Amino acid sequence: MAALFRPEVQALPREQIRALQEERLRALIARVFDQPIPFFKRLLEGAGIGPDDVKTLDDLRRVPRITKQDLRDSEEQHPPLGDYRGAPVSACVRLSTSTGTTGRPTISLFTPRDLAVEYDAACRSFARQGYSPGDVVTHAHPAGLNGGAALLGGAIEAFGALNVPVGPPASKADAQRAIAIWRELRPNRYEMFGPALHTFWETAKEMGLDPASDLGMSPPADMPPWRTISAGLECFAFLGSACSGFVGSHVCEDAAIVEAIDPVTGDAVADGERGHLVVTALSKDNFLLRYDLEDLVRLDHTPCACGETHLRAFWDGRAKDVVVAGERRLLPIDVWVALREIEEVSRPAAEYQLVRTADTSSIRVRVEAPEPSSALEARLHGLLEERLGVPVRLELLASGALPRPAYKPMPVVDE
Ligand SMILES: [Zn+2]
Repeated sequence: MAALFRPEVQALPREQIRALQEERLRALIARVFDQPIPFFKRLLEGAGIGPDDVKTLDDLRRVPRITKQDLRDSEEQHPPLGDYRGAPVSACVRLSTSTGTTGRPTISLFTPRDLAVEYDAACRSFARQGYSPGDVVTHAHPAGLNGGAALLGGAIEAFGALNVPVGPPASKADAQRAIAIWRELRPNRYEMFGPALHTFWETAKEMGLDPASDLGMSPPADMPPWRTISAGLECFAFLGSACSGFVGSHVCEDAAIVEAIDPVTGDAVADGERGHLVVTALSKDNFLLRYDLEDLVRLDHTPCACGETHLRAFWDGRAKDVVVAGERRLLPIDVWVALREIEEVSRPAAEYQLVRTADTSSIRVRVEAPEPSSALEARLHGLLEERLGVPVRLELLASGALPRPAYKPMPVVDE
């Protein structure tokens, strides 16, 4: 079992976690009014909340949730940075933008303390996954205005491992350059999303290499589901990760309050049910209150065998990727978890797509197979209908038929 990176915090009794959260929450609310932070002051006053009204986690429920659109609106109305920042720009040392996969990118700012909070959370994550200082860690997150590569790279350096950033495989030449250096360096950790890893895997094979023995890569199929959970660069990138049991991601509860909320009623959902991930960052200079990621998560407050006392969260996907079929609200991960049961479509990587159509009586799924056959199609069709609990219209496609995004998966298309 991997050791905890910060046992005095990560194994804190739950009542002490709560006390620490409430102490930090009270300090945040005081800053909103005293500093003041105009965006959040308006938000609280608009809900009839004064400086002394939020003292406990229950009181926090009265604070309206905010979304990325609220941050965009604030940046547009008070250009360029908006009026929601907890720290003046003169105190910040890094700027980055979001990927813009869901609209106009927002700007993220970090003070040295904000970076320290992220790096500490990332180091907990590396330790949970058995990394050691001295490891060679390579990653393919985008750089430039997008802050992914800088933040992950900084965290790897803070942990004492060697940071090898190669950037997303946007072209064959990019992928080949990265593979050439990996051949020399033999990284022992590959930190990247499934689509990027699959592109590198396929390119290495085209180059006549065995990605496992020549580069030390593991196929995307070996990545367990629910490995990590993030609240974005704008709130808390390294929110949590799974321990060795892969039974949900422990979130850093000393540094964030994490809720799963029914988006319609605004009430907390029960453990195990899907709700919107809502995060309050507690220890950053640039903090956000009740930030609704519009992602779907399930929480688990039960004790974990690893000894970490902080709650576990299962990140199931984006709310916008829900596909309604019959009585069910399905997400790409529901399909992926089923595909993993059939080796012919899941190794080295499952490539699939959910197609949202006007017909919501069934779900349309496209799946790649290296060797499609009618026997495989029948077996896969039966499995998907059983696991998803709805009629499935399956299209089995040859390898390479579906697009390969360079960075994050985009598994739902509208038609
Ligand atoms: Zn655990």
